[in-house]
Amino acid sequence: MRDATYRRRVGAVRPSHLMFTSGVGSLVDLPNFAVLVRGLDDWNYTNAHGWERIDEPRLLEAVRQNKRNRRVKELRPAPWTEGMEANPGGPASLVGVPTLPFPGCFRCTACNDLGSLDSGAFAFENTNPRRPHEARFVHNVSRHPGRKPLAVSARFVLTCANGHLDEFPYVHFVHQGASCAKASHPSLQMDDRGGNIGANVELTCVSCGAHRNMRWASGERGQDNLPRCRGRHPHLRRFEEGGCDARPKVLVVGASNQWFSQVLSALALPPAGAGLEGLVDKHWEEAFAALPPNPEFLAYARTTVPALRQFEQWDDATLSAAIAKVRAAKEGQAQEEEQGQGYPDLRTPEWKVFSSPDLPDPTEDFALRSVTAELPASLKGVFSDVLQVERLREVRALTGFTRLEAPDPDDPELVTSAPLARVEPEWIPASEVRGEGIFLRVPEELLAAWEKKVTGSEAMGLHRQAYATYRANRVPPHRRSGFEPMRFWPGERYIALHTLSHLLIRTIALDCGYNSASLSERIYASGDADDPRGGILIYTAVPDAEGTLGGLVSQAEPDRLPRLVRRALHEAMRCSSDPLCAERLPQAQADFLHGAACHVCLFVSETTCERGNRFLDRRFVVPIGSPDLALYPELP
Ligand SMILES: [Zn+2]
Ligand SMILES: [Zn+2]
Ligand SMILES: [Zn+2]
Ligand SMILES: [Zn+2]
Ligand SMILES: [Zn+2]
Repeated sequence: MRDATYRRRVGAVRPSHLMFTSGVGSLVDLPNFAVLVRGLDDWNYTNAHGWERIDEPRLLEAVRQNKRNRRVKELRPAPWTEGMEANPGGPASLVGVPTLPFPGCFRCTACNDLGSLDSGAFAFENTNPRRPHEARFVHNVSRHPGRKPLAVSARFVLTCANGHLDEFPYVHFVHQGASCAKASHPSLQMDDRGGNIGANVELTCVSCGAHRNMRWASGERGQDNLPRCRGRHPHLRRFEEGGCDARPKVLVVGASNQWFSQVLSALALPPAGAGLEGLVDKHWEEAFAALPPNPEFLAYARTTVPALRQFEQWDDATLSAAIAKVRAAKEGQAQEEEQGQGYPDLRTPEWKVFSSPDLPDPTEDFALRSVTAELPASLKGVFSDVLQVERLREVRALTGFTRLEAPDPDDPELVTSAPLARVEPEWIPASEVRGEGIFLRVPEELLAAWEKKVTGSEAMGLHRQAYATYRANRVPPHRRSGFEPMRFWPGERYIALHTLSHLLIRTIALDCGYNSASLSERIYASGDADDPRGGILIYTAVPDAEGTLGGLVSQAEPDRLPRLVRRALHEAMRCSSDPLCAERLPQAQADFLHGAACHVCLFVSETTCERGNRFLDRRFVVPIGSPDLALYPELP
């Protein structure tokens, strides 16, 4: 990570960290000051050697479905190059993710003077390139003869739900919204007595004597004391055209809700069978995308497009028909996206591979082994299929970010996301991880019969009602007309499968000594009669860490799985917060989307859960309440 203005390294952050925990637009709290990761326009790969673009066509195509990312041609890892340890001042030190100091307002730790970096009163110091964390600013004024005292970022910023971030307006605030009566550029002091937000921080205008405590800026009432949002995107060094109508909130620099990544993720799948359509799809970009839909062009294209040579064995009519089918599927997908139908569907092809009776040929990125035939009798009613995913590769791409609230996992427009670049980017940052997993499919007859029983139940009714209210509470003003609150409802069976997934993840973590945060889940759920789905993938995907070398896959061995499942389901029967937890139901007004579930019995870390610990309820899996509601009324 480097500061572009001061041309120095200011810290080291793991590449994966630069994507999900902090990435474009996020504030990174360094020991002595804070920096903001700049937009993609400012990233530079010129001196980065040895990096390779990340190849995952399926994900790239999904990324492009977002209007903002239509020009993206490449997925790139964060810029990084070997050699920092050997030669800290050498070329490697010039490579990194560009940042700028933000907030630009600093406080002298000796005299409490508050001022902006532009004032020239603060100087940057980084004497030792081997120790980027020692980079710091000092108060470089004649008042301090000799060694200049340390200056630190004033730790307050303004942010709004539209993804904007701005300096805290100290002058405006200390003068209660008016200007200073004594000076056009008043001198301010900040007395920071520590502690958390506001309560202990006193601001004073030295010019006129006005003073105000920062606590008047925080909370609901504090919002009335703050000016309107200016629509600032400091990572892009610009302001939103047309401004912003949101009320800003004050945050401290380290607050976890200052930035949330918006990410798309895909598993690298083997080529879709040997079928011609699969092959056409695979080579779509280089061979067919530019081809006019008129079949007459095909014969000519065969003589000019080298990528078409591998299609020589098919005649024009057969190939044309396959191209037309693939084109229609792609157009359907693009149209769905235009209409705001949600995230691109990356799960269908994955489900098809996992649920197919024929296992695909193993590739370097993907290998499945079925243990269904060896499944012990005790588990026959619980799962219809069990697969060991011996190898998998997951690629994630950062498509945007939000502030204050995490992006909604179902509806990409419910929380406004901010752009990564000033102009439409031609690449976006991505990371890839290799891992392993287990795939479990719940018998369709069981799910379908259960769905019939619970759909009309009072408990499920409350889940649905809470979902509608939750969304209605969040819909941005420009989407209020015609808003369908139940749109994107994940479905009844999602709740049961998701709960089961958490139970298994928690048991695996306990049993194998995994940190549960190193596990991820994907739920494949649909009650659609034409294409019912009911599967869970639990997998390891820990960037920059050692693989788990078969530890997770071995959990699906026929001699281990029954114990794991039995334990997970029996654990689900009780929670130390019962009866409170067991009786909990979502209440529309209370703004949460889980039933019998809590930190003690079901929740997992934010990085593990694909839905932010929503849509969980033990009563739909095991008989803690009415046995009629439980997917498994009798435990194995
Ligand atoms: Zn000072
Ligand atoms: Zn004043
Ligand atoms: Zn705003
Ligand atoms: Zn509980
Ligand atoms: Zn989850």
